[in-house]
Amino acid sequence: MTSKVTFIGAGNMASAIFGGMIDGGYPADAITATSPNDDALVQLRDRYGIHASSDNNAAVAEANVVVLAVKPDIMRDVCLDLRDSIQARQPLIVSVAAGLTADTLDEWLGGGLPIIRCMPNTPSLVGAGASGLYANPRVSDDQRQLTTTLLEAIGLVEWVDDEALLEAVTAISGSGPAYFFLMFEALIEAGKQLGLPADSAHRLALQTGFGAAKMAQQSEHDPARLKRNVMSPGGTTERAIHVLEDGGLRELFENATQACAARARELS
Ligand code: NAD
Repeated sequence: MTSKVTFIGAGNMASAIFGGMIDGGYPADAITATSPNDDALVQLRDRYGIHASSDNNAAVAEANVVVLAVKPDIMRDVCLDLRDSIQARQPLIVSVAAGLTADTLDEWLGGGLPIIRCMPNTPSLVGAGASGLYANPRVSDDQRQLTTTLLEAIGLVEWVDDEALLEAVTAISGSGPAYFFLMFEALIEAGKQLGLPADSAHRLALQTGFGAAKMAQQSEHDPARLKRNVMSPGGTTERAIHVLEDGGLRELFENATQACAARARELS
């Protein structure tokens, strides 16, 4: 039987997930999303054909899975308001909120619940996300499998068996898109300084990033080997890579990701 999935909050991340689920063939009729905004409710029904409600408690009454997708700063109030309905139903809880631990959510929702935390990233909005997932001990294998299927609608799914590792996930894939955007900025600027028109530099840099990622994903070789393959001895790439290595690029990434993980720890 198809699981009924209710999204509390229907903003960017929630709509990316249920939009992807529907594109992948999940029945819209089994999906409900809530919003305090009347115009948003009309749009949810018209655009996606899902059930839409402004009543969070009514929306979870028949749900097998409840996806918490409101901003972290209002999550406590939303959970406290839902507590009785959630305890009556005992659905699987999936939270995409940054920084709120499974124990904190469980406490706000009355305790004893199967809870999955998901750390997605912004490319999820274009179906190319990377999400790290952690399940508390009350989550069954079937619930894990179901959640994998639901979240593969927005990209790659990677499970971690220790909740603290979600901080590492944040440092690599959660914040990672910004590292690549920074590299694109730098590469585009460098291309302009070498005389390329800005739009050409832009297109070449982005396509190169996309192509490198696609090639690395499809190749049987690891990135180190692929890099060596482009570096003929005495050639142009070798010269550039030496400048990046000598300039401390690896160390910079190590420091940046450590700082990111430390900040994620402070916030949770
Ligand atoms: P968003 O602002 O687009 O969506 C939040 C939605 O919640 C809004 O549409 C708002 O109308 C709705 N809302 C507000 N109060 C509500 C209530 N009481 N009941 C039901 N709905 C209510 O935000 P977003 O970017 O989709 O982020 C949602 C969650 O996803 C956050 O917790 C965030 O930490 C997490 N997240 C987002 C991203 C991202 O790339 N956008 C990445 C990682 C994690």
